[in-house]
Amino acid sequence: MHKPEARRLSSHGAPGRLWFVRTAYKCRVYPTPEQAAVVTRTFGCVRLVWNKTLTERSRRYHTEGARTSYRETDAALTAWKRGKELAFLSEVSCVPLQQTLRHQHTAFGNFFAGRARYPRLKSRTGRQSAHYTRSAFRMRNGELTLAKTSTPLRFAWSFHNVDLAKLDPTMVVVSREPDGRWYLTFAVDADKPAPAEPTGHAVGVDLGLTDLLVTSDGERIANPRHLARKARNLARYQRRMARCQRGSRNRRQAQTKVARAHRKVRNARQDFLHRTTTALVRSADVIAIEDLSVRNMVRNRHLARAISDASWGEFRRQLEYKCNRAGRTFVVIDRWFPSSKTCSVCGHVLAELALTVRHWTCPGCRTRHDRDLNAAKNILAAGRAVTRDTASGDACGADVRRQGPSLPRSAVKQEPRAVRHSS
Ligand SMILES: [Zn+2]
Repeated sequence: MHKPEARRLSSHGAPGRLWFVRTAYKCRVYPTPEQAAVVTRTFGCVRLVWNKTLTERSRRYHTEGARTSYRETDAALTAWKRGKELAFLSEVSCVPLQQTLRHQHTAFGNFFAGRARYPRLKSRTGRQSAHYTRSAFRMRNGELTLAKTSTPLRFAWSFHNVDLAKLDPTMVVVSREPDGRWYLTFAVDADKPAPAEPTGHAVGVDLGLTDLLVTSDGERIANPRHLARKARNLARYQRRMARCQRGSRNRRQAQTKVARAHRKVRNARQDFLHRTTTALVRSADVIAIEDLSVRNMVRNRHLARAISDASWGEFRRQLEYKCNRAGRTFVVIDRWFPSSKTCSVCGHVLAELALTVRHWTCPGCRTRHDRDLNAAKNILAAGRAVTRDTASGDACGADVRRQGPSLPRSAVKQEPRAVRHSS
C-alpha cells in the first residue's frame, strides 16, 4: 500500500507571502476509462511539447550558442497548434502544456546556474505527469474535476486532519507511475504552523555509510536492512529484464516488475527518512549537519550504492524544511571542515585519518575517540559557534541560506552559515 505523503514544496510561498508554506498532499486516484483516456492524451502532448522544445533549444544552443526565453517557447507552441501537423495539441487543456514549458525553463535556469544536469528527453515508459493550475480544474465540496473531463475524479483522501471540503489547492498534478498506478497531488498554500516547543537542546549530526547517522548525543541510527534486501530484488528484476527481447511481451511484464520494485525501495526509504528527520527536529532547537557533496561522492563507484541508499540529499532536504516549519535553527557546516580529524576535547588536528580507522586516541590529550561520535561533537560545536555569531548580529546575518545542492568545489574556504527560521 502506498503511504500518503504530505510534503512541503518550498521553504517559502511566493515572494511577499513569507507567512505561507506550500504543502503538497499526494494520494492515489482511480480515473474512469474516459478520464484516463483524456489524461493519457494530455501526458502524450506534454511529453511531445517538452521533447520538441528541448530539441529545438539544444539545437539553438549548440549551433548559435543562444539561449531561448520562455516567451519564445510559448510562441512556438502557439505556432505548432495553428499548423496542420500538431493541431491535435489544441484538443487537450493548454495549461499542462504551458506548465511544462515553465518547468523546462526552470530546469535550464538550474542547469546554467550549475545546480542541475542538462535537462533530458521524456520517455514514454517513465513517469508521466500533467500540472493543472486553477484555471484548468474545478474544486467544489471536495470534488475535483479536470478541464476537458465531465465527471469528478475518484481519489482516496487519507489526510484525516485536513478537511477536504475546505481544501483550496493552487495546483493539482495528475501522474502515472511506470508500474501503472495513478496519483493526484494537491499543492496548497497553508498558514505557517506555530513553532514547536523549545527543548533547550542542540544536536550535531554526522552522516555515514555503515550508520546513516551518529548524533553528538551518541545516538546511532543504522541504515535499515530491508532497504538493502529490496535493492537486491530490484537488481535481480533489472537483470531479468535485460535478458528479455526488446518490445516483447515478456519484457513488458519484466518492466512492470522493475517499476514495482523501484516503488518499494523508494517508499521504504522515504518512510525511514521521514521518521528519522521528524524525531530529530522534535528533539532539538538547533540542528547542525555537514554539507557533504552528495553528487561528488556518488561518482565513486564503490560507495555509490551505499550512498544512494543512505539518501543524504533527501535527508538534508527533509531536515531543512521540517526545521523551517517547526521554527528550528538549521546549520550547514562547510564540507571541508575537518570534523573527523579534530579532537573534540582539546582541538588537536590530526594530519591524516584513514577512512577505515573507526577509533583513535588523541596525541594531545590522550582521549580515546569513536570516529563518528567525535565528528558529530565537532559539528555541534561549529553549529553553536555559527548560531552565536548570528545572534550577535555578525556578518552572516540571520537570513543567509545556502540554496539547492552543494556548491561546486572552490579553492576558497567558505564559512559555515546558519539558517534561522523565526516564525
Ligand atoms: Zn585531544
